[in-house]
Amino acid sequence: MLDSVLIANRGEIACRIIRSARKLGMRTIAVHSEADSKALFVEMADEAHPIGKAPATESYLVVDKIIEVAKTSSAACIHPGYGFLSERAEFGEACEANGIVFVGPPASAIRAMGLKDAAKALASQAGVPIVPGYHGSRQEPDFLRQKAYEIGYPVLIKAVAGGGGKGMRRVDKAAEFEAALESAQREAASAFGDPRVLVEKYVLSPRHIEIQVFADKHGNVVHLFERDCSLQRRHQKVIEEAPAPGMTAQMRAAMGKAAVEAARAVGYVSAGTIEFIADGREGLRPDRFYFMEMNTRLQVEHPVTEAITGLDLVELQFRIAAGERLPFGQHELRMDGHAVEARLYAEDPEKGFLPSTGKLWALRFPDGEAIRIDTGVKEGDWVTPFYDPMIAKVIAHGATRDEALDKLSDALGKTAVAGPKTNLAFLKGLCDAPEFRAGRFDTGFIDANLGALGAVEQRLDAAAVAAGAARLHQRLVSEAFDVVHRTQGNLSDPWNDEDGFQLLGERRVGVPLLVNGARLETLVGFEAGEMIVHVPDFGFSTRAALDWSGDYRRLLAPDLDAELIDGDGAVFVLRHGRQTHVARFDPFAVDLEHIDEGGTVKAPMHGKLIAVFVQPGDRVAKGQRLAILEAMKMEHALVAPAAGAVVEVAVEPGAQVAEGARLIVVQPDDA
Ligand code: ADP
Repeated sequence: MLDSVLIANRGEIACRIIRSARKLGMRTIAVHSEADSKALFVEMADEAHPIGKAPATESYLVVDKIIEVAKTSSAACIHPGYGFLSERAEFGEACEANGIVFVGPPASAIRAMGLKDAAKALASQAGVPIVPGYHGSRQEPDFLRQKAYEIGYPVLIKAVAGGGGKGMRRVDKAAEFEAALESAQREAASAFGDPRVLVEKYVLSPRHIEIQVFADKHGNVVHLFERDCSLQRRHQKVIEEAPAPGMTAQMRAAMGKAAVEAARAVGYVSAGTIEFIADGREGLRPDRFYFMEMNTRLQVEHPVTEAITGLDLVELQFRIAAGERLPFGQHELRMDGHAVEARLYAEDPEKGFLPSTGKLWALRFPDGEAIRIDTGVKEGDWVTPFYDPMIAKVIAHGATRDEALDKLSDALGKTAVAGPKTNLAFLKGLCDAPEFRAGRFDTGFIDANLGALGAVEQRLDAAAVAAGAARLHQRLVSEAFDVVHRTQGNLSDPWNDEDGFQLLGERRVGVPLLVNGARLETLVGFEAGEMIVHVPDFGFSTRAALDWSGDYRRLLAPDLDAELIDGDGAVFVLRHGRQTHVARFDPFAVDLEHIDEGGTVKAPMHGKLIAVFVQPGDRVAKGQRLAILEAMKMEHALVAPAAGAVVEVAVEPGAQVAEGARLIVVQPDDA
């Protein structure tokens, strides 16, 4: 066995790889950016070496620096994880050139599958069905529009070098083709340095079903069954499961065979995934699935395959890299039960899933039987804007699909995250959605059900506000009494007459708060040992008993099914998977992020402004696109908050902007 491994990655996957390597007795070597110097994977590894600044282009993507560390630390092999350098053929070559084993496929296989057009040609030659479309080299807009017409709308424009859904646009009619093409090409050029695209038929009612393959260096190739990753948003997977609902033995055999053939066609070695799209209009049928692409690396969702096969895929990767044979043949592989994985993200589903950064004031997972948590962060860590904002993967395994989904739903309900906003409630909603439970879904399911899943701007949770307010007020009262306590000695009942409180019925005091950054009035009253919090805007009141008998700081919180977490000088209230941030309103503090001036367009997050479409003096309509911000590897359109005239454009394209920075000011017509 290889005696040591350098992990050229970060976060949860680095932690995951370290666990398997350690089990095999390997020395583990981490490399990390400045932003990750205190990260969990750095702590876990036997050694850790800094390789540069926070942006991945200055650290995790710099081949030379990583190879240098591998040499000085005498790493026997490098595991690239997923993302970053995992699918760069040059990286594998650089490893081999320096006598370091690359834990992955040969560079030739990565190259062959690296471009979607070439991969499709290859698959097609190997007899694997592909989606009808234009996969040639011509790129003129008119020519591609003609091809789209011939293929028939709807079509999908895809970046040839694409990945992660970037540079991909669905087009429903000819009139929208040109704009979609331009934006796909721009995104592809900036993400992959290659603007080329292909155009293919948009498969209706599409199911994303992929086959895990494994090949050793001795010509043995097997598949480890399928995963269904149809629950996606913006072509990014949200929930993955194995096996696929509605899968038949006949279809599984056909897909497995096609996947193994595609892998053989490129001389594949190690773990790989063949992604297929299945036309699910009439259930899954063996003649209605098409090759999409091959991912020549470990997948984020590999744990569901591990759960149903009982195998450790990372261990297998190491064994194969060391030259061992696959320890089983196809006929020896069995599936046990059903597994589901949910990707827990730091993002705000109520605000278009904008990534949300910040300190993790609380991070707690349930530890249950058949629940696996893969994470790369711990309480007190920060979710930074530099990398993918995934907090954890929560994986559940059960005898049946329903049992697995019940366990996952339950685990998500018991997970607590305070600080960044998360998609917890959204994920739980998905697990419980009746249509999904019934197996009636395709890749459009999430988009079609955003409202029902709570991924729309929602009313403030008044109960959460009241609970947070009660806690804040309690803290204030406690502080005040701490002072009294220190100066006047012991107090048994701070509400007695001598303390100056008039308890003639309920006395109310107005207390302004900042709730999720917006001002909100609350009233607090005290009556017979109870604190009563009113949120007049919502017609909501709640009582909290004050327990002054022993520890006078104790507040018997109202029974609102809420969890309160102190942090940031405020209170995070977690209730039903949603988070409400309750802070005292300080009239002298300027809250840059949340000043609401009607017409000001601010950066919703750290990022780079890549296009500005207006200049001072322009008239704009409400909702009109004003600029595009690229952040967290995605493009976000910034739109006019109201109809009016542009009075200020504060930044130029290309500028890096901070969250909350003022970008464009529109003077609304009705102001
Ligand atoms: P990427 O490499 O950027 O992730 P893929 O080619 O893997 O792109 O496609 C990502 C997702 O887009 C798929 O899972 C599927 O949901 C959807 N998709 C891809 N091709 C098609 C198609 N021809 N018709 C409908 N949906 C598609």
